[in-house]
This record gives sequence, C-alpha cells and structure tokens, in this order.
Amino acid sequence: MKKLEEYVRSIPDFPEPGIIFRDVTSILQDADGLKLAIDSLQGLLEGLDFDVVVGTESRGFIFGVPVAYNLHKPFVPVRKKGKLPCETVEASYELEYGSAVIEMHRDSIKPGDRVVLVDDLIATGGTIEACARMVEGLGGEVVRMIFVMELAGLNGRDRLKKYDVASVIRYE
Ligand code: IMP
Repeated sequence: MKKLEEYVRSIPDFPEPGIIFRDVTSILQDADGLKLAIDSLQGLLEGLDFDVVVGTESRGFIFGVPVAYNLHKPFVPVRKKGKLPCETVEASYELEYGSAVIEMHRDSIKPGDRVVLVDDLIATGGTIEACARMVEGLGGEVVRMIFVMELAGLNGRDRLKKYDVASVIRYE
C-alpha cells in the first residue's frame, strides 16, 4: 500500500520563487489517497474526548467535514471575512504582505466546548492560532490541532507551544 506522502504532489516555485507548494488535490483525486488522508487524520484523534470540529476555509473544510461526520460531531467553518450571514467574531493574522481577517459564527461554540481545529497544512501557524483565539474568545477550549501536512522548517509549533499539535506528514 502506498504511503500518504506518495500522493502529495510538490510544486517548486509556487506561488512564488523559492516556495515548494505541497498540493493536496493530488491526494483528493485518488480514491485510495483520499481514504488514507481522512483515516490518518482521524487517527490523530483516537481516544480524545471532544465536542466539535472547527475547520478553516477552504481546505480545512475538505478534511474536517469527513472526520466530523465519521465521528458524529458537529463541524464549524471558519471563513474569510464577509462570508458568514449571522453574528460573527473575527481574528486577524499576519501574512507575508499585509494581514487577513477570518470569522466564525458567534453561536457556533459554547462555553466549555472541547474543540479540535483542522487544516490541510501548518506553515507558520498564524492561521490556526487566529482560529484558536476566536474559539477561546467564545469560551471554547482547543484540545488538539490536526493537520494533514506540517512544514516543520517554518516552526509553527514554536508559536503554538501551549497547544496539542499533531500532523500526519512532516516535511523538514
Ligand atoms: P500558516 O498560517 O503560515 O500556518 O499557513 C497555513 C495556511 O496556508 C493553510 O491554510 C494552508 O492551506 C496554506 N498553505 C501554506 N503553504 C501551503 C502549501 O505548501 N500547500 C498547501 N497549503 C499551504
């Protein structure tokens, strides 16, 4: 059986020179790759007691929903600012050039909820840290952050020291 990393296509110099982009579409477009990715991600939650899965737009939706569905948990989307129709909370985080703002519905997390955050990939950790701030602002507790891929060289874990971080594939 192939390993999950064998399904990942790596594209040099995308979106900018010097960056190696790890493409998840090559996992998704293979039935075995897709199953292995979801099963592996779900495996990172084995034995964990939690209430809700929160996934970030847009690849966090692709991986977060099947995991939530399989474990019979609710799924909460974190979206880019301006997309959600009801009352929201927001958080901003730094990008290489400028900043981005993300939102979630205020009523999506209840005080005391034990929350799992999901995204396809962790690089600097800025996106997921912003998600965690929103969840905590609503009274939730982030009990684990899970990723299909981790770019370890960008030291995302350093800024997430207080969290339980797990990934399926680690690139040095
Ligand atoms: P961070 O906020 O620096 O950790 O960046 C993580 C976000 O950037 C995630 O939402 C990813 O989807 C996206 N991202 C950064 N690099 C890559 C990559 O090589 N492949 C796929 N997504 C990436």
